[in-house]
Amino acid sequence: MLNPILVQGIEPGGQLTTTTEVENWPGDSEVQGPDLMIRMQDHAKAMGCEIIGDIITNLDTSKRPFTATGDSGTIYTADAVILATGARAKWLGLPSEEAFKGFGVSACATCDGFFYRGQEIVVIGGGNTAVEEALFLTNFASKVTLIHRRDELRAEKILQDRLMKNPKIEPLWFHQLEEVVGEDNPKGVEAVRVKHVETGEITEIPCKGVFVAIGHAPANELVKDVLELHNGGYVKVEAGSTRTSIPGIFAAGDLTDHVYRQAVTSAGMGCMAALDAEKFLAEHDA
Ligand code: NAP
Repeated sequence: MLNPILVQGIEPGGQLTTTTEVENWPGDSEVQGPDLMIRMQDHAKAMGCEIIGDIITNLDTSKRPFTATGDSGTIYTADAVILATGARAKWLGLPSEEAFKGFGVSACATCDGFFYRGQEIVVIGGGNTAVEEALFLTNFASKVTLIHRRDELRAEKILQDRLMKNPKIEPLWFHQLEEVVGEDNPKGVEAVRVKHVETGEITEIPCKGVFVAIGHAPANELVKDVLELHNGGYVKVEAGSTRTSIPGIFAAGDLTDHVYRQAVTSAGMGCMAALDAEKFLAEHDA
């Protein structure tokens, strides 16, 4: 009964809408990420949350009520704000990666995998995302090479097992991407040049698609100059709470959690933030 509004931003549902099976959501031995987010949206609406399709471009935290300006021109006011802007994919920062983004270089297998039916693909990274993307891409690709800078994966063992058993996937250990090689007309990827991290030897691997899956960075643009951050840009909260360095502003999920970063832990933090905000409002007589 606090009249909450949820402003959805550029990617309603967030990272779970660009994933497939989620196997560690309590109560479902397997659930599709996008389905889970539709259920959450319906649940929030049913509980009286107003959901708005807008992108917040500025948040004024200097006085209460706080004001948030939307891309639509609308100004929203709130006595308490919960930030749950999540995280987004990191890139390697190579000029050739930038040049072919959207033309063979991608950070989202579920969005772009379909375009590579019968083609050879490489995936860069060794975490859960990289392994899940490699597995998903075998639905379309003729071969997937997983390029990792070490010979040990960070991904969960169950995913590693699936990766090793999949005949379409070949891991390439101790290699880093050096350059994406392609054509300009029509624009597209033809190969990658990779370097052995110890010997420096360069190898060229033919491929039509390059999926970069080297982790995620917190989406902190709205608050990076006003809130205390730590661990490379994550919003700092008081231990055991979702309270940020500004009273009345709370943070939950991947924006603040640099350790667990799971759907279930983010949802738990969302609940903590709601309770923290409710207590704050009661104490400040809003
Ligand atoms: P991550 O666990 O941080 O893994 C990033 C991977 O990319 C690591 O293997 C890392 O190598 C590699 N890497 C990082 N920078 C690199 C660079 N410059 N060049 C080459 N390789 C680089 O990230 P993530 O896989 O995106 O996962 C993020 C979080 O989401 C994790 O907590 C994960 O558990 C969670 N997640 C969960 C699920 C699920 O539960 N089903 C699915 C996806 C993600 P090193 O290993 O050598 O550091």
